[in-house]
Amino acid sequence: GTSRAASGTATAELRRRLENELEDIRGAGTWKNERIIASRQGPHLRLAGGGAAGILNFCANNYLGLSSHPEVIRAAVEALEKFGAGLSSVRFICGTQSIHKDLEEKIARFHQREDAILYASCFDANAGIFEALLTPEDAVLSDELNHASIIDGIRLCKANKYRYKHMDMQDLEAKLQDAQKHRLRLVATDGAFSMDGDIAPLREICQLAQKYDALVFIDECHATGFLGPNGRGTDELLGVMDKVTIINSTLGKALGGAAGGYTTGPKPLIDLLRQRSRPYLFSNSLPPAVVGCASKALDLLMESNAIAQSMAAKTQRFRSKMTAAGFTISGKDHPICPVMLGDARLAAVMAEDMLNRGIYVIGFSYPVVPKGKARIRVQISAVHSDEDIDRCVEAFTEVGRKHGALP
Ligand code: PLP
Repeated sequence: GTSRAASGTATAELRRRLENELEDIRGAGTWKNERIIASRQGPHLRLAGGGAAGILNFCANNYLGLSSHPEVIRAAVEALEKFGAGLSSVRFICGTQSIHKDLEEKIARFHQREDAILYASCFDANAGIFEALLTPEDAVLSDELNHASIIDGIRLCKANKYRYKHMDMQDLEAKLQDAQKHRLRLVATDGAFSMDGDIAPLREICQLAQKYDALVFIDECHATGFLGPNGRGTDELLGVMDKVTIINSTLGKALGGAAGGYTTGPKPLIDLLRQRSRPYLFSNSLPPAVVGCASKALDLLMESNAIAQSMAAKTQRFRSKMTAAGFTISGKDHPICPVMLGDARLAAVMAEDMLNRGIYVIGFSYPVVPKGKARIRVQISAVHSDEDIDRCVEAFTEVGRKHGALP
């Protein structure tokens, strides 16, 4: 009687509040729609209900085109058949198979680190590391534009928190000086930042870390597999593989795109994470098919850097042709190519018009990026053909002229 009535009132009140909040999101123009894809991930997509004509996709993190690579898919099917759909267990109870240990060993070898630990996602790896590693006696220094999952991970820990201005080494140095009073200092940064396609100044960060006796942590989600001469990441690109202590990265982007994340670094750190890291301890083991995908992706990359080079060549083609056409592309040499437009409406209407021409790109505006810095983010993949790239540049040129972004 009364309790049901009370919960009925509470539900009605909840609905009202949620609907108001949803209306606020719509009103702010930040509502995110999900497009429904009826095909595999790849450079050419078919949208659900979109007819026979495909669209050209420039907004996946499928940098190396491995998400639908036939060998990656076959490896997943084989792992599924041999090792089952899943473990129905966390790792330390009955959720560790030989393939989990093999993949961890392979990840450590790929990054030239001592050991690695798998998570269900890099979000989990970031959520799990800071709390396990840092105490109230320690300090963490974080770039203000770090990924949301790093920010959340840091929130969960009790260390003293410093936030330095984006890639600002003077500010980082000042904060390191202040943090000298703490027992241990950890500098945390994205290796490559996904909104700007810019790369953290790791050489300078590592120098400062050395000077002020700090550890360096990097999130390599937008670098693993393709940055650096052998695709090892930002640390390889900038020649500091021996100076970065901890790497977190994802298996859900360049490395096959299925799911999963990891931490790689010193063995005692990995051992500690297995004992203390909450998203590892209290969440299900990675499914065998997912392990199979990532393991095959790493094999392909360790055999040859041809795929990464092909992506780099296409990135270069896109960046130089777009610049020649009169556009400003943020970042340098990174397959994330933000076409800087400034005005939020312009970015939105241009992205829409690109889709009308069969090219799928996404506009970003405030609050995802700073006010007045709206952009369309284009992401290049090794499986785009030169023709795909050229079609994209042509469409941008037409649409840019039409809407006044180009003269
Ligand atoms: N860190 C960065 C920089 C990312 O871009 C992402 C992307 O989603 C993540 C972490 C989370 O990775 P995952 O999708 O594996 O949870």
